[in-house]
Amino acid sequence: MPAEPLLQRARTKIVATVGPACRGRAKLAELIQAGVDVFRINMAHGEREEHIQAVADIRQASRNVDRPVGILVDLAGPKIRLGALVQDPMPCEEGAEFRFIRGETSFSPFDLVSTYPTLVDELDVGDRVLLADGVVGMRVVKKVADAAICRVDIAGEIRSRKGINLPGVKLSTPAMTEADRDNALWAAQAEVDFVSLSFVRDPEDIAGLQALLQDAGSRAMVIAKIEKPEALERLDEIVYAADGVMVARGDLGVEIDVAETPIVQKRIIACCTKFQKPVIVATQMLESMTESKRPTRAEASDVANAILDGADACMLSGETAVGAYPRETVEMMNRILLKTERLLQDAPANAPPMAAVSGVHPITSAVIYGAGRIAAQLFASMVVIITRSGATARVKAKQRDFIPTLAVSDSETTLRQMTLFWGITPLHGAPTNNPPELRRFIDEWGLADGSLRLGDRVVFVTGSDLVERAHNVVVVHEVENVKKT
Ligand code: PGA
Ligand code: MN
Repeated sequence: MPAEPLLQRARTKIVATVGPACRGRAKLAELIQAGVDVFRINMAHGEREEHIQAVADIRQASRNVDRPVGILVDLAGPKIRLGALVQDPMPCEEGAEFRFIRGETSFSPFDLVSTYPTLVDELDVGDRVLLADGVVGMRVVKKVADAAICRVDIAGEIRSRKGINLPGVKLSTPAMTEADRDNALWAAQAEVDFVSLSFVRDPEDIAGLQALLQDAGSRAMVIAKIEKPEALERLDEIVYAADGVMVARGDLGVEIDVAETPIVQKRIIACCTKFQKPVIVATQMLESMTESKRPTRAEASDVANAILDGADACMLSGETAVGAYPRETVEMMNRILLKTERLLQDAPANAPPMAAVSGVHPITSAVIYGAGRIAAQLFASMVVIITRSGATARVKAKQRDFIPTLAVSDSETTLRQMTLFWGITPLHGAPTNNPPELRRFIDEWGLADGSLRLGDRVVFVTGSDLVERAHNVVVVHEVENVKKT
């Protein structure tokens, strides 16, 4: 089952959430062929056993399609939820009063309990309480010894276990719950490629998770989910600390004014461009395709605009996890990406920043930029990056030039992490330590794939023994007939 040829692949990457709608190797392989680069396993749902199965199935599907695929484990973070309701569902009428009480059990339909033990203490008169993704709004009107009394000002219906958002309330909860730590340790042991943290508030949250993963022997990249106003206040520091970022519009649109989310999305992406970090735009991208074979016009535009904003990847949530048309949704997203990217085709490449803002040596940044310019000048068909950590490919991605780019590595983890980088196609099985062999391998691969023809030029970027710690060698070569001997 070969994947589609290099030249027909979208530059922008697709992250798809797994769930009951795409269980099993065959279905996952189908989604990879339709364009999925990274699968997200959402720790807010399902049991450990299912997660283990999902990892095994994704790895097998990736081998079957012969294409590196990343796995992102998404930690739920300190998400507060309603406990069990006495009446479920429970209508909340405008002006009605509800009480948040202590403990885990309620005996009245108007008494609410939550998964956050100190909620009653931390709520103050005037605080905003949003339930079920902002469907219901309340405000704290009075505090008594063991309860916070709230009045409904946005009417709607709530159900047991629905989410609670407290925009602007500074909670004392730690960044990672016990469950998050446990899941992160499992993710390390399962050798997943990315771990994301929900409700990040400051750069220390990121550093904490990075340290935990490193101590557990994991090289997983830590993705900061931006969905709290506190995170926006310290955006630069968080993006600098993180290995990647997610614009988590689901909770973000509840925590801040939803009218502000388009502008905030642009601001977050611009920050990721500045620090050269990959960024995923998430939630409701093709939401209506959960139930319909066609997206709305607004959704098609949303995907397109995310790319034009500078997103590296677009994410699907319920669409692939529980939707009726997972494959059609991925195909649709892929088609929108391809059509939209044409607009970027003739844009000049972004020069790298002069300072080492990305953890990449400025010499490497300059050389990779130069390689792109050499490739353009020579009408080269391809750039090939040989990389150990993937950092060079990450910088190349942010250049946004259109030259098809392969990345090879002797590390399987690196190959899988590069699935998230815009315009980078990681290629498995290349003999990275033997330059003549590697050249032959690439020629042969490109000729078979149809992305190279005899006489085409290929620009290699690699390190050298002359200077350590920097990618500083650019080699240009012309494709030869490898099979003639
Ligand atoms: P979630 O994160 O789906 O885990 O809540 C994404 C978001 O909030 O947009
Ligand atoms: Mn969220």
